[in-house]
Amino acid sequence: MKSLMKPKVTIELRLTILLIALCIAIISYLGCSSSSPEPQVLARVEVPGYIEDLNLPVYAGIEDGTETFYALVIATRTQLDNAHVTYRIIDKYTPGKRYLIALEEYEGAREEAAGLVNVLYDDGEHIIVRYTFAVSELLSEIGFDSSLMNDHPIWSGKAASGAAARSNLSSAVASFEKNLTVEKMLNAVTQNEIELYTEYLSGEKQVTVDGKPVTLSTRHTYKAGTKVLEATQHVHDQMKAMGLTASFSTWNYHYKDEDDPDFVPIALMGRNVAGEIRGQTNPDEIVILIAHLDSISGKDDETAPGADDNASGCVGLLMAAKIMKDYKFKRTVRFVFTTGEEQDVIGGKAYAKSVDDARENIVAVLNLDMIGYSKVLDPPVKPMQQIKIRHAKFKTAYEKDLPVAQTYINVVNTYGMNQVFEVKLTPDGETCSDHAPFWEVCTSREENSACYSAAWAIEYAEKGFINPKMHTTNDRIKLNGKYHMNLPYYEAIVKAALGTAAHLAEIAP
Ligand SMILES: [Zn+2]
Repeated sequence: MKSLMKPKVTIELRLTILLIALCIAIISYLGCSSSSPEPQVLARVEVPGYIEDLNLPVYAGIEDGTETFYALVIATRTQLDNAHVTYRIIDKYTPGKRYLIALEEYEGAREEAAGLVNVLYDDGEHIIVRYTFAVSELLSEIGFDSSLMNDHPIWSGKAASGAAARSNLSSAVASFEKNLTVEKMLNAVTQNEIELYTEYLSGEKQVTVDGKPVTLSTRHTYKAGTKVLEATQHVHDQMKAMGLTASFSTWNYHYKDEDDPDFVPIALMGRNVAGEIRGQTNPDEIVILIAHLDSISGKDDETAPGADDNASGCVGLLMAAKIMKDYKFKRTVRFVFTTGEEQDVIGGKAYAKSVDDARENIVAVLNLDMIGYSKVLDPPVKPMQQIKIRHAKFKTAYEKDLPVAQTYINVVNTYGMNQVFEVKLTPDGETCSDHAPFWEVCTSREENSACYSAAWAIEYAEKGFINPKMHTTNDRIKLNGKYHMNLPYYEAIVKAALGTAAHLAEIAP
């Protein structure tokens, strides 16, 4: 029995094995042909040295609540393991998925967000959530400043083949000295004018647009009708009246939520305004002062005065334009007013893309966003003010931005604004305003991994210090008849910005 059965079992067994082998071959063939590579993940990666040491594509570099810098990387687990880094997976990534990096401005906002949206990661200072237009609007209402994580790496994982992208402003910083013409320009800045211009933009006083009196009660980018168009027209007309060339540039924004078939696609259109003083000897080298003109306040945005956020920055640009147009500079100076900033910097991104597409030679960008408020401490102390650039752990980028920040600091400390506030170099790489697109727009071009030199001047923005009325209907110059904004501080920052632009553009002989 045993001996008789043996050959039969063996044949059956062989056939079965053959069949199984065939199945495995077919399955693995189908698997390969449908090409399912290893899925990618979004991960937090620790950076013991520099970003440039990471052999991984980095999409953002930020500081957590303990001021520990980390990189956000999109890669496979195998890539992460092979890079020998410490990492923590935040989300399964699928192509096309976008993330919001939201910075908590109001204490308690992170806790509130946790009950309202799906928080993928909370670093003690920022939360990371999947981007949808609605989530972005919600987060800004409850006290976040958010930015959309880049859709291409800021660091590709390998060094550029060309020379390191150094700023050509370094020599200007090294030879910085007080200039009497610049001093004259700074002396022309007055607090009265700053207040008046802020009253116009924040709806406290009427302006004339197309011959009609208008109250700019809101400058929200897409709610409350045509107010933002009137605001852009007002700024345009002011620059024209000052004798600058001024022009509009339209942007378009489309958003469709792939995961929600019932979602009505969003199509927004807006316009930025720019004025220009053409350079005398190096007109192709451009120094940009930028500020967002739009505002936001909450549910209906019918009233969004945005006096500090960000009429203040716009007034800084207008004052600088008004004074600088009477002087001559080697380089071109451009004053750019964006809209859609409160919707994850839509207008600023469009603007940066347009100048990068045209390969304009942008030598420096200074962004003014919230420059008019300082918290009153008891006993009173000299307020602080921040100039933000990219993180020192992103070495090439930090070195590229540093001359802009250093010029700003030199101006503050040389022309006496340090009597009013103490300036603090803050290389935290925060991306939630109009300077950030200039850091990011060209990083996908291999020869330009550090992109443009840009810095952000802002009131002291650490948690508990930033204007508590930001993004509310009470973001006004005065509250209950008393100044809520700090006019001498505001004036000193306007002077600092003007002086920085003048030094970067260089007085023409
Ligand atoms: Zn702002």
